Amino acid sequence: MANQVQKIYLTVSIDTECDHDPQWVRANPITFESIYEGVPNRLQTAFDSIGAVPTYLLTVEVMEDAQSVKTLRELKGNYEFGTHLHAAFIEPDKKFQDYAGIDSPDFQSSYPEEIEYRKLENLSNLFFDCFGYRPTSFRAGRYGAASQSLNSLQKLGYKVDTSVTPHIRWTEPNGMVDFRKAPEQPYFPAVDEIVVPGGNPTERILEAPVTVMPRLLRRNPVWFRPWFASVDQMKKIFQYQLKKHADKEVININMMFHSMEIIEKASPYPQTAEDVQRFLDDMLEGLSWCKQEGVEFCGLSSLYEPFQQAA
Ligand SMILES: [Zn+2]
Repeated sequence: MANQVQKIYLTVSIDTECDHDPQWVRANPITFESIYEGVPNRLQTAFDSIGAVPTYLLTVEVMEDAQSVKTLRELKGNYEFGTHLHAAFIEPDKKFQDYAGIDSPDFQSSYPEEIEYRKLENLSNLFFDCFGYRPTSFRAGRYGAASQSLNSLQKLGYKVDTSVTPHIRWTEPNGMVDFRKAPEQPYFPAVDEIVVPGGNPTERILEAPVTVMPRLLRRNPVWFRPWFASVDQMKKIFQYQLKKHADKEVININMMFHSMEIIEKASPYPQTAEDVQRFLDDMLEGLSWCKQEGVEFCGLSSLYEPFQQAA
């Protein structure tokens, strides 16, 4: 199926957060089963079994929790750590000291650029304090990123952002981000743009959109994502991307989900142990099929060089 000249990189980008509840609100009291049990014993084990390389995008509360940091620092296997921002939970203008029972009320790009920059700087410094190196991959909470966010990330040394969801416009909670015209494959955004390609590949951060496929007569696309797509749909999305972008030398298929989705009742998705098993089985079956199709698994930041060379 794969075009012989195409190189296909498959990334799995995971928003890695405290447990939530079925209404998508942070657990009260706050718990971290998705980190203590989910990441090492359910996710990383599954990825290692087929050689996939996940990128765990870490939130503030995870990096503030000593046991989570210890678990992540001791994690064995092949993976990348990056960051994920829910802007109300970090200075300046931090809105909550206790995150239990709290929703995510903010798009980061709705803050003034200077405030958003300092939030990202504090998040990145927190990451450095936990792991001893600088993060280079990122996703905005609720996908609430704009061109100013990319400028800030770039200044902070990030190489790859994955906040863009093509074909989708998000209108809550405190603003709007419109990715309906965004490219489906990684690109270097033009100056002061987020969905318009054309940026200088030696200067600009790489935007690696979440992989989706538009649907006829449906407003929302289908995501390359366990629970949202069946294994058959994942195969179709993969084939759609390869066919649609057959002129490109380098292709990225970017699966996204949250760490909480593999803990029962810690998200609106799997609610029972059987649900969790189905999620993991579908994820592995989908990824294994992609592997047979010849993909190379890699962390998000490893996309930067091949896409820079191809640009
Ligand atoms: Zn999030």
